[in-house]
Amino acid sequence: MGRVNSKRRLATADWLGCSTTDPPSTPPHPPTKTTTSLRRSEATRSQSLTRLASPSGPDPPSRHPAPFSRTTTKDDPMPAPHKHPLITTRHDRPDLDLGDYTAAGHILWAALAAADITPNIEQTSAGRAIHIDLPNDTTVWITEDADISHLPTDHESWSALHFYDPTDSGNYVQVYLGPGGLTCEADTAACVSTIKAWIANYTTTGAVARHNTHLTLLRTSADPDAIRGSWRISYGQPGFDPTNPVHPTERHTATVIDRVITQPDRRGACLACNWEGPPRRDQNKAVEDALDHSHPGWRDLPTIPRGTGGKNVQRLRAYLDTTYPPDWFETGGPLKVFTTTANDRHEPGAARGGGYLVKVHRPSPAAGPQHEQQSLI
Ligand SMILES: [Zn+2]
Repeated sequence: MGRVNSKRRLATADWLGCSTTDPPSTPPHPPTKTTTSLRRSEATRSQSLTRLASPSGPDPPSRHPAPFSRTTTKDDPMPAPHKHPLITTRHDRPDLDLGDYTAAGHILWAALAAADITPNIEQTSAGRAIHIDLPNDTTVWITEDADISHLPTDHESWSALHFYDPTDSGNYVQVYLGPGGLTCEADTAACVSTIKAWIANYTTTGAVARHNTHLTLLRTSADPDAIRGSWRISYGQPGFDPTNPVHPTERHTATVIDRVITQPDRRGACLACNWEGPPRRDQNKAVEDALDHSHPGWRDLPTIPRGTGGKNVQRLRAYLDTTYPPDWFETGGPLKVFTTTANDRHEPGAARGGGYLVKVHRPSPAAGPQHEQQSLI
């Protein structure tokens, strides 16, 4: 997953450094051979590396052609005129009749187009990949050991990598890795449905949409890295449901979404709209961003001591009713309480009305200045 170690990075760099007749213009070729080979036999690995080492031919006429026509017939799902020549060209198999030759890459290309995903093709002397351009200059690359031109009968498994950080080609997410043993058609279908769900999660915004696309991704053959790397509502936060789709709330409601790629990423989010806060490492910061969205002004409200009980409850309630805005708690507004615990997490659902209990750190009651609220207890 994610950032490769230095040894693997070196191997990738070596591969990228080989002489090219048509060097990659965007993210470099994915190190598919390394990843895929982890689940393969040595014999298969040798075959794959032999395939990778095959010399490429002259430059293709176009590197970014239009997608295939989706016109099909009963006898041939992809008539020859619509076959992409760069997928078909095989300099290591002169025995193949190119006019009749359907490569595994053709099947993948057609399946992506049928799923309303626009495929592109890239070639270096090291191999070829079908790639999908996504927002933020990121790209999903799909190959089988840097090859897409192999016969469907030779197909073992697709590997799809999302280079989500355009500034660091060593950072990527393994979105899909076929289990092997499937037909080319079955592996392609599983790969495409996984990529479609991944793209939906990556490109949508808002806690509800992110979480629901994450649930969809769970039902695909997504790699565990992709499951961890997809945005969803954080465990235990408002709206979190591990299995059922989430429905939007009527009023702006603070929550937190997260994903784990190289390390946890969090954002404040809202259950009513598609607002999302900036990336945060700290969960409390993400909650506070979300409260700025759902309940602006909360930072200016007074903080009260925690553990208030007995006869002071009525006094406290009366105090809050006069110092907090009307209907504050009824709309899920947060209650601010002091805590002596450093990095104490804000508690969802713990305030009157179901809002957050926001923890304000104060090392000890004696250490801090005397606040008006303290005199209440
Ligand atoms: Zn909102």
